Amino acid sequence: MSGESTRKLLVAAANRAASYLEGLHAREVQPSRHSIERLNGALGVPLPNEPSDAAEVLAFLDDYGSPATVASAGPRYFGFVTGGALPVTLAAQYLAAGWDQNCFSFVSSPAVACFEQASLRWVKEALGLPESAEGALVTGATMANFTCFAAARNRVLERHGWDVDRQGLFGAPPITVVLGEEAHSTIYKVLSMLGLGRDRVSRVPADAQGRMRADALPSIKGPAIVCLQAGNVNSGAFDPAGEIIAWARDRDAWAHVDGAFGLWALAVPGFAERVDAFRLADSWATDAHKWLNVPYDSGVAIVRDREALARAMSISGSYLLLADERRDAINFTPDSSRRARAVEVWAALKCLGRSGLADLVARNCAQARAMAGRLGRAGIEIPNEVVLPDFLEFHDSSQEC
Ligand SMILES: *Cc1c(COP(=O)(O)O)cnc(C)c1O
Repeated sequence: MSGESTRKLLVAAANRAASYLEGLHAREVQPSRHSIERLNGALGVPLPNEPSDAAEVLAFLDDYGSPATVASAGPRYFGFVTGGALPVTLAAQYLAAGWDQNCFSFVSSPAVACFEQASLRWVKEALGLPESAEGALVTGATMANFTCFAAARNRVLERHGWDVDRQGLFGAPPITVVLGEEAHSTIYKVLSMLGLGRDRVSRVPADAQGRMRADALPSIKGPAIVCLQAGNVNSGAFDPAGEIIAWARDRDAWAHVDGAFGLWALAVPGFAERVDAFRLADSWATDAHKWLNVPYDSGVAIVRDREALARAMSISGSYLLLADERRDAINFTPDSSRRARAVEVWAALKCLGRSGLADLVARNCAQARAMAGRLGRAGIEIPNEVVLPDFLEFHDSSQEC
């Protein structure tokens, strides 16, 4: 394709995306059954023999695809725990899509390797996590939990003389995995994928808000991993991290935090102080596509012990090869070839700054309180405490991201 027609096509795509976003306020959030049937009908044809014009392909995607989408990018969507995408992150994604970098190594994309290191450093700074911790940008909190649990599994077994990397799990000393009763369903999938078993876990009873009860922790011995939650998906509640992590330390257990959305509360002055014990954990998983509002798919794993992460994820199984300052992402992530997630994370943090990030989270909490108040006044029962506090101050920042 000539340079000119490529430009035309890309500009057309950007225009269509902008029109789509502008139209969100005027449409139903859920697509109509008709629009889904129309799309499915149009897709129900055999693989064409002949090529199609690229502009027509794009037009089809928009004409048939756009109406069948859920308007989750708009302000009237309240399903699941779903972020939007800050316009700057969408723009960053467009540009990075143009770069089409394979981001597994420094050599394959020096630019993205640099953005990746910078964005991981900023995430740690924003959340007050240790500077020396290592990280991985992955597809979401599920894979971030997977990455951290893999590092944890290998490390706690290594302390008991077992090398998972070389020996696998057959014959290994059993690991006790301690979870709250309300651990997110994806944690069980992670345990299954890592050979730790969905049914072998020690489940700790939760209180009415879904917080793990620190007074009900089990008595354990041998290698152990405990998983805390910063932000219960149903209630928003935070586990009592101080007590649970101290309990884990005393038993030489690895403390991991599933903070898919809630971990971002650590970026909010006035609230961070109340949950700062989460910073004492050994590893943290969070989503950038939730509260940071970058496009899917984007999760972050942070592990305090760099070597533990590298040993679990390095392509060679060797940590010694990793002294090079030209950091290869492939040695810290489960995947190899991958896209430039770092660019969107960096763009969000650069555009928001510390204050913009804190305002974004605090404003959202204020909205939750306002909504709970109004629904309550309308006679609707609110079963959860809206835990993220109302004393947070925020500024309606004039900076638009
Ligand atoms: C959303 C969520 C997950 C899973 O995150 P994905 O990004 O969908 O992989 C895990 N734990 C909690 C607490 C969540 O809110």
